[in-house]
Formats: sequence, C-alpha cells, structure tokens
Amino acid sequence: MFNLLRLIVIILILYFLYQGVRRFFLSDGKKMPIPGEDRAKQVRGEDLVEDPQCHMYVPVSRAIEKRIGDRTLYFCSEACYRAYQESTK
Ligand SMILES: [Zn+2]
Repeated sequence: MFNLLRLIVIILILYFLYQGVRRFFLSDGKKMPIPGEDRAKQVRGEDLVEDPQCHMYVPVSRAIEKRIGDRTLYFCSEACYRAYQESTK
C-alpha cells in the first residue's frame, strides 16, 4: 500500500518535471517574430528583396538580379536598374 503511494508520488513528480522541462524548451525554441522589416520581407515563404532604386519590395523570382561590384542587387525593372546605374555614376 505505501509502496503504491510512493510510486504515485514519484510519477507525479516526474510528470511535473517533464512538463517544466518541456515548457522551458518550447519557450526557448519558439522565438517571437521580429516585427517590421524582417517580417515584411517574408510573404508566403517567398523572399522579398528591396529594389535599391525605388525601395519597393519584389519577390526574388520576379526581381531582376544584377551583380554590381561584389554585391548582388535586385531591381523591380530594367528601368530601375538603369536609373540606379545613373545615380551611382
Ligand atoms: Zn524599382
């Protein structure tokens, strides 16, 4: 009888320890999303890139990729790319 009670108490302690550990790991792994810029760049899993000329966000798949120096820049259109080239001359 006393052995059974002790077993139940041990199980309860282990259960609460498990809950505590689980909560600790869950709260640690589930970080709050950073509001603002970083969230604005993510739309339905597709990365948005900023056009440095008109500052519009364009999905990577539709952006015009240009390598300027050691940087890769993304533009919404050829016109923006040309305007950017003019402005950086
Ligand atoms: Zn643009």
